[in-house]
Amino acid sequence: MKFCRECNNILYPKEDKEQKILRYACRNCDYQEIADNYCVHRNEVHHSVSEKTQILTDVASDPTLPRTKAVRCAKCQHKEAVFFQATTRSEDGMALFFVCCNRNCGHRWRD
Ligand SMILES: [Zn+2]
Ligand SMILES: [Zn+2]
Repeated sequence: MKFCRECNNILYPKEDKEQKILRYACRNCDYQEIADNYCVHRNEVHHSVSEKTQILTDVASDPTLPRTKAVRCAKCQHKEAVFFQATTRSEDGMALFFVCCNRNCGHRWRD
């Protein structure tokens, strides 16, 4: 909820179709302000998605994670994979995950 800086009344969202932005306008006086949250929020959603994919692809090159040669990737037959434990939503709680070390593959699977 936003309030007018001039008269403290509630500001109502008002779409500016010409400039494709959202404004907050006071119905009591002429005060208006651009709703900068409108665009920022959209960017944030986009940002977190790309961050997640970056985490996924970087796992295989993370030097802090243990590697194993005892497994074989089902997709590309690569014989080295990074593994880590992660909590799952299912009842078994912790599960072992493998990520193929072949940078062109990046296949992930559960033990
Ligand atoms: Zn006002
Ligand atoms: Zn692979």
